[in-house]
Amino acid sequence: MTTIWIKHPRACYTANAQNADNGIVICNDRIVELVASGQQPNTVIDQTWDASEHVLLPGLINSHHHFYQTLTRACPVALNKKLFPWLQSLYPVWAGLTPEWHAVATELALVELLLSGCTTAADHHYLFPQALNAAIDQQAEIALRLGMRATLTRGSMSLSQEDGGLPPKEVVQTEQHILDDSERLIRRWHQQDEHGLLEIALAPCSPFSVTQELMSATAELAQQYRVGLHTHLAETEDENAFCIAQFGQRPLDYLESVGWLGAHTWLAHGIHFNREEIQRLGQTGTGICHCPSSNMVLASGICPVNELQQAGSPVGLGVDGSASNDHSNLMQEVRQALLIQRLRYPADAFSHLDALQLATKGSASVLNRDDIGELAVGKKADIALFKLDEPRFSGAHDALAALVLCGAQRADAVMVNGSWKVQQGQWLGGDIKELMQRHQSAAEQLLSAT
Ligand SMILES: [Zn+2]
Repeated sequence: MTTIWIKHPRACYTANAQNADNGIVICNDRIVELVASGQQPNTVIDQTWDASEHVLLPGLINSHHHFYQTLTRACPVALNKKLFPWLQSLYPVWAGLTPEWHAVATELALVELLLSGCTTAADHHYLFPQALNAAIDQQAEIALRLGMRATLTRGSMSLSQEDGGLPPKEVVQTEQHILDDSERLIRRWHQQDEHGLLEIALAPCSPFSVTQELMSATAELAQQYRVGLHTHLAETEDENAFCIAQFGQRPLDYLESVGWLGAHTWLAHGIHFNREEIQRLGQTGTGICHCPSSNMVLASGICPVNELQQAGSPVGLGVDGSASNDHSNLMQEVRQALLIQRLRYPADAFSHLDALQLATKGSASVLNRDDIGELAVGKKADIALFKLDEPRFSGAHDALAALVLCGAQRADAVMVNGSWKVQQGQWLGGDIKELMQRHQSAAEQLLSAT
């Protein structure tokens, strides 16, 4: 039992109303004490960690990503395209993924997130060409090796172009296989490791890539095992038109008809809802993951964050896949959320603290986690510490506001589950240059294989 006092932070954001201005005390994998201004810890302290130059935050939580897409950043075939043609350009490239390339993509994405202050990552993996049957198992093994907290969602596509869907047939699977594998993955990985780092959720890619039967069967399976449900929804106007043409319903009506609305479900994007739909989402407690950069890159629109929260929906933050962001930097995404929401709401209706809330307590609620996302006694020891020592911060006054407004990008120290993963801005788990070389080589080979 070792206690560590993260002492005297320059500023601190707890994501709740509590005061931890003099720091927090961690024992093993938990926060055991908050130290208010003018106070000393009551706990016997074994070690102190001087945070006087740091801004202390709960570890950031990314609630939507596609790790494999780090191999197709700024990809020529997909540049400057709307969602559907963007997807159709990239599917044939992604169909060539091998397990080796997928593994390095996953590792790079997780390390990139970690360096940006992220301690929990949700990934939506829906691409299973023949060679990639064990993609989620690979992700689970890599996340555990790195010691990151992760919610791995078993995605699916069953509706190929021949059946009126969007993806080519090389990347779709049969529905029985999808359901059997989903069940296997839940039994194998969901909350099964000794530190409780991993969760599994089920995640058909979108209404335009699976059948109605699979949507319903997935919801039943998720309910049976009490795991989360996730998909993309209401990302573009084109999707609304597709759903009306295909199912005679708007996306949310369709989702409700297949038994999906509820607090166990979170939806990526959630942009094109009408007022009544927002009320329905709020009444059912359905969560939304806001993905600001991706929504700007694909010109999809702006998520109505305040209306959704006022209606009762939890709203979290996600970087989305790196083919439409094209980075996986969650701290940068906090700034993007602030800026895009300022285009929707008056400047006094969405603050820098509201943006930080999305990436912390908001994302935790979306993932149905009450043990992460804030600094409070009993919560997991997941923290991120940022220094304001770059030219961009020079002259800044309010340290928390500076973090968001001046554009912090790289955490100086990150702890997950009581264990340091980043110190002095460096990843402690491996050689970042060697990882980047392997990743760059995989990206080049993937593109030349197409
Ligand atoms: Zn996505």
